[in-house]
Amino acid sequence: MSVEISMAPEPNASILTDLSTSSCDYLTAIWKAGEWAAAKVTTSTVADQLGVAPSTASAGLRRLAERGLVIHERYGSVQLTALGTTVALAVIRRQRLFETFLVRELGYGWHEVHDDAVALAHAASDRAVDHIDARLGHPTRDPHGDPIPDAHGVLPPLELTRLAECSVGDVGVIARIDDSDPDMLEYFDQVDLNLDAVVTVGVMRPFAGTMSISTLEGSTDIVLGDVAARSIWITRRDHP
Ligand SMILES: [Zn+2]
Repeated sequence: MSVEISMAPEPNASILTDLSTSSCDYLTAIWKAGEWAAAKVTTSTVADQLGVAPSTASAGLRRLAERGLVIHERYGSVQLTALGTTVALAVIRRQRLFETFLVRELGYGWHEVHDDAVALAHAASDRAVDHIDARLGHPTRDPHGDPIPDAHGVLPPLELTRLAECSVGDVGVIARIDDSDPDMLEYFDQVDLNLDAVVTVGVMRPFAGTMSISTLEGSTDIVLGDVAARSIWITRRDHP
């Protein structure tokens, strides 16, 4: 799946500082819901993502609509406006830079970064964010392979395939791992499934919902269930 390059208006620094953490959570949840799948985003999608009741999500979305950040039809879809997209991308950029900073500079595990990265992203000044970006060498992906928008909100292009959608004999490089389940991330770490590992698909057992893969380094095959195989994205390589 490819991520389109989006050119959004320049972020307005003041809007970021006067939005609450909760408003930022709504905007990033809406943006992320459409990041890897072209599904329609609804109030219940947002409620599920944020772990709140649909009525709470509905009230939160109404507040954002009043500020011109989202378009929310009563029983229909939720969409970010151009301004909402700009703000969401600015927040995502901060969160992913802080995730990278925590792992690279402070030795966090990739399953431990989420909460602190969200808190730091909200608290940091633009100046601190620019310094961290420079210190890290302007990274284009975070520790989970999620693309980091640049300072203008532009995302690096990616061509990724879900491991679950591959066939026997396919070879690829792990380019992204879904970061929503810390336990799964910890498991992947234990079996050496990390970004840039080269994997080959061995046996597929659709009736059991499993597939086995091997890595260049590992001597034994790794068996993954469907949920795990859907959480790993690869950049395909030509068959050897
Ligand atoms: Zn991440």
